[in-house]
Amino acid sequence: MATDISGLYQDTIVWDAHAGVFPSPQVDLSLLKDWHDSGVNYVSINVGFDVMEWQQTLATLAAYRHWMLAQKDKFTLVGSIDDIEQARQQNKLAVSFDIEGMNALNDDIHMLGVYHALGVRQMLFAYNLNNNAAGGCHDKDTGLSLFGKQIVEQMNHLGIIVDCSHAAYRTTMDIMSESHKPVVFSHSNPTAVCDHQRNIKDDQIKACAQTGGVVGVNGMGIFLGDNLSNNETLIKHIVYLSELVGADHVGIGFDYSPPTGLDLSAILSSRPDYWPAGQCYDTPHIAHASPAQLQDLSVELQQFGFHDAEIRGILGANFHRVASQTWVKPTAKADRNCIKYAGPW
Ligand SMILES: [Zn+2]
Repeated sequence: MATDISGLYQDTIVWDAHAGVFPSPQVDLSLLKDWHDSGVNYVSINVGFDVMEWQQTLATLAAYRHWMLAQKDKFTLVGSIDDIEQARQQNKLAVSFDIEGMNALNDDIHMLGVYHALGVRQMLFAYNLNNNAAGGCHDKDTGLSLFGKQIVEQMNHLGIIVDCSHAAYRTTMDIMSESHKPVVFSHSNPTAVCDHQRNIKDDQIKACAQTGGVVGVNGMGIFLGDNLSNNETLIKHIVYLSELVGADHVGIGFDYSPPTGLDLSAILSSRPDYWPAGQCYDTPHIAHASPAQLQDLSVELQQFGFHDAEIRGILGANFHRVASQTWVKPTAKADRNCIKYAGPW
């Protein structure tokens, strides 16, 4: 007998593995209300990506941390996995940070420990173009460099989720064979459903599942297909992934951003190297799934025939499992290379 679906949505952990808010100290994080009001319990927001100078990532971290710590009655800056459940019980939104691309390290592996100490719990290797760690999905596929391999090892030790979204095929396969912890694609869709360079092939999805990882379905219409972002389209991707590797390896990473006042079209068109022509980035009015769709999505997944346990997994339990296995206390070896955890949260 199935659980009442509204009960299911309300009493399960809802996890958005990646928000697409443009990282900037000028962004007003009051926009996180959209996630909280939709019943989301945890969201990872990015504080930097390879397009920016690394100093800008630190400036964004400083601004976001200041805002979060001043709003402790509504938001929890996550330090450990236990903070997620505690925040849920207190009706707060749990938040941690991710970084899209290793340019943020400024060629220094010790920066991983700095970012971890400041609340970064998930990192991608390359944002669309190659860097000195990895290959990007819109660039020549050069694979993971020696520096990139050292980064994987250090992320495993520190307890930062290894994320392959935006990286090139060979790089992702290298990362997944190097990592001793589950590897995720926090916001990537299957190429078999929508053919786009940002999307991922079946053997990448299978390799991810073999690490115990999760693929988060991206809510951008240009990655879902035909610039659609309704639940019917999302379910096509969820069904494909579930049939390929099992629902235990499927999650949500909508890449969603409420309006921030920044002109996204102007930003995209200003850097045709990172967002190349022919990849639909110039699509007018790009459709985008939002957290407000998630409760209805849970109902429609049940109507489609997914079991309650599978729906709970897709909504958040699967990514929660990966975080539980990853966000461990740094080992002694990693401690030598990082700032000791001394957060105020
Ligand atoms: Zn992204």
